[in-house]
Amino acid sequence: MGFFDRFSDYFSNDIAIDLGTANTLVYSKSSRDIILDEPSVVAVQKNYRGMQSRVLAVGKEAKDMLGRTPGTIVAIRPIKDGVIADFEVTQSMLKYFISKSTGQQKSFIRPRINICVPYGITQVEKKAVKESAMSAGAREVYLIEEPMAAAIGAGLPIAEPIGSMVVDMGGGTTGVAVISLGGIVFCKSIKVAGDKLDEAIINYVRRQFNLLIGERTAEQIKIAIGNAYPFEKSRSMTIKGRDLVAGAPKTIEITSEQINEALKDPLTEIVDAVRTTLEKTPPELASDIVDNGIVLTGGGAHLHNLDVLIRERTGLPVTIAENPLTCVVMGSGKALEDLDLLKQVSTD
Ligand code: ADP
Ligand code: MG
Repeated sequence: MGFFDRFSDYFSNDIAIDLGTANTLVYSKSSRDIILDEPSVVAVQKNYRGMQSRVLAVGKEAKDMLGRTPGTIVAIRPIKDGVIADFEVTQSMLKYFISKSTGQQKSFIRPRINICVPYGITQVEKKAVKESAMSAGAREVYLIEEPMAAAIGAGLPIAEPIGSMVVDMGGGTTGVAVISLGGIVFCKSIKVAGDKLDEAIINYVRRQFNLLIGERTAEQIKIAIGNAYPFEKSRSMTIKGRDLVAGAPKTIEITSEQINEALKDPLTEIVDAVRTTLEKTPPELASDIVDNGIVLTGGGAHLHNLDVLIRERTGLPVTIAENPLTCVVMGSGKALEDLDLLKQVSTD
């Protein structure tokens, strides 16, 4: 490593970014901590003064506008299903988060940025992510795939000749991956995750109670009394919505057993993805997983008793990572601190 490299490594404010479907987090190497944690949402005004569209707000501010916007303003989640649906909006979001993070750091050397991207995004999408980071002021950009970052963040022995399995359940996608010797041996990514659970709650409440509720309410119900496997003692919650028959606001009581029922189908799909992955795993690695078990990361790992359900359906030990929501960004941050590891685990 030459003098400039060592110098810039020391003085620059390198960052790692978890560009999630629900949340974007930024880790700073110099602060050794997470310096930004905001929803991956952009509020866009359409056809503003003859222009195509204009970004009004990004992150927290934009999420508060979700479902509450007048006709001309739309709140967009640009990577909702784990694919970059809207390049331009993704780029403005990424640039905004990068300048917000590097702006607070005041370094005169441009940062090296390690960005974590959904598993299996296309070459074109990767290039778009890289380019937006470069134009936001990066000196160098590395891309790392989500399941790999999650596994590093969860403290799994990814560099060893040992099979590890991580199930990263985010907002838009659930990634089930087997990792060994610093590489992803097999990964299955399905578009069934937190958002689909919210949708399932909305549909259930509509069917059972003729009540219309919004996405935010559904998410609140999921977090409060959602469960993948019944609680020992039933829980309940009072929810408000719009009566589909009378058209007026209405309040009902909903129980944890009902939510369990509502979540059955999407959760079965997730369990099936885990089972398929186990079937496709080479025998030596599968036997490591039988011994070491499965680790759950991502916001979905917080769903009550998800570990119990997966344990029951696979017969394998299942643990929840210490901080499921920050595993990916912490794993990308760890790679940032070790250039050899970064080069080994990054993707082109
Ligand atoms: P992404 O990586 O796709 O941005 P995250 O890992 O940040 O997603 O997880 C976001 C998802 O986790 C959302 O669907 C959110 O509703 C869900 N989530 C967060 N906390 C909980 C909780 N306590 N119980 C169930 N789901 C949760
Ligand atoms: Mg994620």
